[in-house]
Amino acid sequence: VPPTSPATDGDRPLVVGVDVGGTKVLAGLVGEDGSVHHLTRGTTPGRMASPEAVEETVAACVRRAAGDRVPDAVGVAAAGFVDATGARVMFAPHLPWRGEDVRARLAERVGAPVLLENDATCAAHAEASYGAGRDAGSMLLVTLGTGIGGSLVLDGRTWRGAQGMAGEFGHMQVVPDGAPCECGRRGCWEQYCSGNALVRDARSRLGVEPTVLTELCEGDPDRLTGPMVTAAAADGDLVARRTFTRIGEWLGVGLSNLVAAFDPALVVIGGGVSEAGDRLLDPARDVLAGSLVGAGHRDVPPVVRAALGPEAGLVGAATLARATYC
Ligand SMILES: [Zn+2]
Repeated sequence: VPPTSPATDGDRPLVVGVDVGGTKVLAGLVGEDGSVHHLTRGTTPGRMASPEAVEETVAACVRRAAGDRVPDAVGVAAAGFVDATGARVMFAPHLPWRGEDVRARLAERVGAPVLLENDATCAAHAEASYGAGRDAGSMLLVTLGTGIGGSLVLDGRTWRGAQGMAGEFGHMQVVPDGAPCECGRRGCWEQYCSGNALVRDARSRLGVEPTVLTELCEGDPDRLTGPMVTAAAADGDLVARRTFTRIGEWLGVGLSNLVAAFDPALVVIGGGVSEAGDRLLDPARDVLAGSLVGAGHRDVPPVVRAALGPEAGLVGAATLARATYC
C-alpha cells in the first residue's frame, strides 16, 4: 500500500509526470512545489516494438505513481518531436512513435487529460521554474542521455518553434559525412557527445589499453554501460577519464555554436552523462572559452550542471499539465 502523500491529500489535484526516454520510463507524483513522490520506473520497449507497447508501459508507470487512483492530469515528456498542438509525436529517433496521436491514446489509457511535450522542453521548464536557471532569464539547456536533447528559454519563455520542433541540437551536423545517426543523416552532434557516444568511445579502447572497464563489462564490450564509464572515471581509470575529456570537448564544440547563435545568460547541462560533473564540463568550458566568436571581448556564459537531475523532465511535464488542466 503506497504511503499517503501530502501531494494527494484532500482536494489538491493529483498530477503525475512521466518521462519517456530511449531506454527507460520514469514517472512520479509531482507536488505544486516541484517535489516528486512515488517515483517509479519501467523499461522502454525497443525501437522495433509497437507504439502500443510503449503506451502500455507509460500507462503502467502512471498507475504505479498514482497508487492506482485516477490522476487529475498527466504530463508526458517524450524524447521526440511533438507537434505544435501537443497532440502527436511526429518522429522519435529512439522510440517507435511516427506521427502517432499519443496524447489522445494515452489519455484513454490513463483516464485523465494528458499534456504531451518534448522531454528537453519539459526539463528546461523545470530548471527555469525550480532549478539551475531560476534567475537566468535566458538559458540554454542541453541534456546528454541516450542522444542529445535541448531547449532554449528566452526571456523566461520556453521557445517551441513554429512547428514545436525547436531545440533538436543533437542533430546539428558537426562532422560532414561523419558517423551515421539514428535520424538517418550523418555527422550529427549526438554521435560524438551523448551517452551512446560515451559508451562507443570507451568500447573502442577495450583491448587497446589496460582499463578497469574490461573487468566491469566482464570482457564483453556489449555489456559496457555509461554508468560503468562514469564509475571507472571516478575511481581514477585513465581510459575512462580520457573518454570523458573527448566527450566534453565535443560538448564545447556544439556549445560554442549555440552560444554564438543565442547568447544565453547561462548554459545548463543535464542528462545521465552530466553526472560526471566537472570531468565532463571542464573540457567543454575550455573549448567554449577558446572558440566562441568574440572570445576575449565578451563574457562567456557559465556552464553548470542541471539542478533537478533525471527527474527534471517529468517535473516539467507535470508542472505544464497542472497549469493547463488543474
Ligand atoms: Zn541525427
